[in-house]
Amino acid sequence: MSDWRLPWSAACMCGRVTIRITAAPVMAMACHCRGCQKLTSGPYSLSLMLPASGFEVLEGETELGGLHREQSPHHFCTQCKNWLYTTNIGGGEFVNFRATMLDDASWVSPFIESNVAEKLPGVVSGASRSFEGFPSPDQYGPLMAAYAEEGARPR
Ligand SMILES: [Zn+2]
Ligand SMILES: [Zn+2]
Repeated sequence: MSDWRLPWSAACMCGRVTIRITAAPVMAMACHCRGCQKLTSGPYSLSLMLPASGFEVLEGETELGGLHREQSPHHFCTQCKNWLYTTNIGGGEFVNFRATMLDDASWVSPFIESNVAEKLPGVVSGASRSFEGFPSPDQYGPLMAAYAEEGARPR
């Protein structure tokens, strides 16, 4: 099954930043780490890992936020301050996009969840594969292959 119904459009809460996605994600993940809890002001982050070549900001300005780190920086809307995406993932090959910004996020379901050691009690992400920390580097290939086959698609 490969029908991702691309392209997808997305926007921040105030609508100033609009995004176009033209490539299928390689992973959908929930991260329960303390950093994601703080960045989202919620129990976990929900991300789609996208090929950078299929990710484009069409309108609006973003600024760096969070810890303002140089490696894999966090991009926010300058107006509504939504956390929108993280660049320079996998040496620049991927962007981690916050899936809840999609115009239609109703289908998004995490395939893996990371840092469950820090998960808040009672939180259930729905991911079928759970990791105490992050998956080890040698696990990503098989996980991506399984996601390409079984990952949730837009309806
Ligand atoms: Zn995290
Ligand atoms: Zn905004």
